[in-house]
Amino acid sequence: MSTNHRLNPNQTITLSEFPTTAHQFHDDRESAEVEFRALRDELIEYQRRLYADGTRKLLVVLQAMDAGGKDGTIRRVFKGVNPQGVQVTSFKVPTRHELARDFLWRIHKAVPAKGMIGVFNRSHYEDVLVVRVHDIVPEEIWRPRYAHINAFEKTLAESGTTILKFYLHISSDEQKQRFQARLDEPDKNWKFSLDDLEKRKLWDDYAAAIEEMISKTTTPWAPWYVVPADQKWYRNLAVGRVLVDTLKTLDPQYPKPEQDFSGVIIE
Ligand code: ATP
Ligand code: MG
Repeated sequence: MSTNHRLNPNQTITLSEFPTTAHQFHDDRESAEVEFRALRDELIEYQRRLYADGTRKLLVVLQAMDAGGKDGTIRRVFKGVNPQGVQVTSFKVPTRHELARDFLWRIHKAVPAKGMIGVFNRSHYEDVLVVRVHDIVPEEIWRPRYAHINAFEKTLAESGTTILKFYLHISSDEQKQRFQARLDEPDKNWKFSLDDLEKRKLWDDYAAAIEEMISKTTTPWAPWYVVPADQKWYRNLAVGRVLVDTLKTLDPQYPKPEQDFSGVIIE
C-alpha cells in the first residue's frame, strides 16, 4: 500500500489488515488541518480551471460502512468549491422505475459532464454490497456485475473521465460511537435508523463483500483508495491530497481566447 492509500490491481485484500486510524501516517491534527485548508484552496482553484477548460471530467466515488463519514467528507472537502462545477448524487434504495432497468442505468445518468466534478455518495457498488449481503438478488445476478462495473468504468475513463474511488475505512468500535452519538444528540437523531443496527450485526458479511469488491474492481483506470477514517481530520486530508494530486496531473488550463482581443475598447 502506498502512502496515499491507493491499491494496486490484481491484489486480493483483507480489510482487517488495513489500518482505520491515522496513527502510523500522521500524528498531529493541527498541522494536518493547516495542510488540509491549503489543499482545499488549491482544489477550489483547480475546479475553476477544470470547469473553464471544459474537456475533462472527474468522478469521485465514496463508499463506507454506515456512519463511515461519506457526508462529512463531501461537506468538508468540497467546502468553498463553486457549487456550479460539482454535482453530488446520493444513491438510495432504488425506486420502482430504477429497478425496472439494469443496475447501471441510474448511475450512468449521473456521471459528470465535461468540466464537472461528480461525487457519488454511495454508487453502483451498492449493487455488489447491500444487494449481496441481504440476498436481494441471487449470486448469478450480482457476481457478473464486477465485470460489468469494470467495463462501464473503462468506458467512462476512455471518454475522458478520471475516476477515484474511496473506501472510508472505520473500525466497528468507531461505528458504535458514531451511532451512539446519533442516538444521544437530538440534532443527529434523524441520521439514525434501527436498520443501521441490523446492518451492524452483519459487519463481517459486509467486510467480506467489500474485500471482494475492492479486489475485483481495482483497475488501472479506476483505482480504489482505502483511507483510514476513524479520525475525520486525517480522512479529509487523505482524500484532499489525492484529489489535488490528481488535478495537478490533469493540469486543466484556462482556455486562450479564440479571437484577438488586442485593441478592443469597451465603450
Ligand atoms: P448515512 O450513511 O449518513 O446514514 P445513507 O447513505 O445511509 O446515509 P440512507 O438514506 O440512510 O443514506 O440510506 C440509503 C440506503 O440505500 C442505504 O442503506 C443503502 O444501502 C441503500 N441502497 C443504496 N443503493 C442501493 C441498491 N442499489 N440496492 C439496495 N439498496 C441500496
Ligand atoms: Mg444510513
